Amino acid sequence: MRIHGKELPVPSFFQVYNFGGGNGDKDREIVYAELTSDTPALVNYYYINNRYPHLFQSKLFDQVQRFSRVGDLYNYIRGELIEKGEIYSGYTGLEYDFNDKVFLLDSGAFSIVKYVAERVGYDVDRFKTEIVRHATEYYDFAQALHFDIVVGFDMGGKYTEKDGEGENTVLQRFLSEIDPAEINGLLLEKTVEYLLEHPGYYPCVLATVHGNTPQEYRANVQSILRLENAHGVRFWGFALGGIASYKQVDPSWYNDVNFNGGGKRGFIETITPARACKIVRSMVGDRPIHALGCGGYNNIALNFFNGATSFDAATPVRRVGDGNLASTRIVFDPTPSQEGFSKYFMGGINMDGSMREEDCAYVKLNQVPDTMPLCGCPACSIAGSVHHIKELYAMKETDGEANYFSRQLIGLHAVMQHRHLCRVVSSYDSMGDFCRDYPSRLNEGLNRIQRQL
Ligand SMILES: [Zn+2]
Repeated sequence: MRIHGKELPVPSFFQVYNFGGGNGDKDREIVYAELTSDTPALVNYYYINNRYPHLFQSKLFDQVQRFSRVGDLYNYIRGELIEKGEIYSGYTGLEYDFNDKVFLLDSGAFSIVKYVAERVGYDVDRFKTEIVRHATEYYDFAQALHFDIVVGFDMGGKYTEKDGEGENTVLQRFLSEIDPAEINGLLLEKTVEYLLEHPGYYPCVLATVHGNTPQEYRANVQSILRLENAHGVRFWGFALGGIASYKQVDPSWYNDVNFNGGGKRGFIETITPARACKIVRSMVGDRPIHALGCGGYNNIALNFFNGATSFDAATPVRRVGDGNLASTRIVFDPTPSQEGFSKYFMGGINMDGSMREEDCAYVKLNQVPDTMPLCGCPACSIAGSVHHIKELYAMKETDGEANYFSRQLIGLHAVMQHRHLCRVVSSYDSMGDFCRDYPSRLNEGLNRIQRQL
């Protein structure tokens, strides 16, 4: 598929750039962007918009209004970070242009909900008026920076007690008083209104779908389609929300599935996204479907074979964040350790298309064999060997940038594995065919699940 002159393969894994929501590894992910080349990017409005005060706010985003293309904004940030010295001296960076990337903007709704709720003194009626204003500003922001795709502004699905945990009891009471489904309906209507008022709107808009059960999901899609018909508006595609965590979804999504033969571990989280994709695909023709937060490695094949065209996940890069200082002193000792190590994504498919021997898993770096062959992705080609990654990792106390670099080599390898799996599954028509050519414990388990969906 092409979008604004850029290629967006089907399916696509979106790399989540969380710069603005953290430092350290988040900075370096921007600096070493060339290692994942034109992998599309998801960024979070809440993190990159300094009007919302937050912990990791970056001054660089004060410059947002200078730019009319999000790619230029990220080129600027990358230049500033390199200028600051946030790059390993043993690595010669390549020219890179963020304008080659497809950018998707997501709202980071829950953080904004909390912010707005506090501003209006937890008054439900004032909240409704105010949240709509924030939605309008969000769409204006996406237009000003010419994002390629924007996820419809919404406030997420059902809120649980846990969401207010550690917050004040006032917020908890507020969350129990609002009906997210009602407010999401209101936001959807405002989105339609906005699109009618902005006929030349640049970003492709995804209508956000929610629902606690499969039935509610179906009903929500129906209401979106009804609204489209009533107003003569057509969303570019659909963003599936509220399905990323199997622990938070209603068990009716998956409690009829038999896990005999493969167990639940690694598989249970694939079911809700796959079923949600299947439901929405059956109702919306050939329009794009993005499964929000559902791009974990185990999810990718089932998402695709059930109708998703894209998905995202922060996990591949997040797993390097587990590494602590103590672990850098013992990285050459393979004895299982309680220390937090950066985790390396093992298994998957080599860039030449051959299947790797290891099972798919994130493994503590000290337990990855030094001589294990690498996959051939750009990060692995630069690393040369696991041994070299460990050497860089161990340099934490003498050269912090060497350590950061090793962590990016690990994280961006994992991103490329996700991306590569997308490429491989795209040439198959069914999970069964894919599994026949790539028989693994994972794929055979997924194939058993696919037959039950
Ligand atoms: Zn690799």
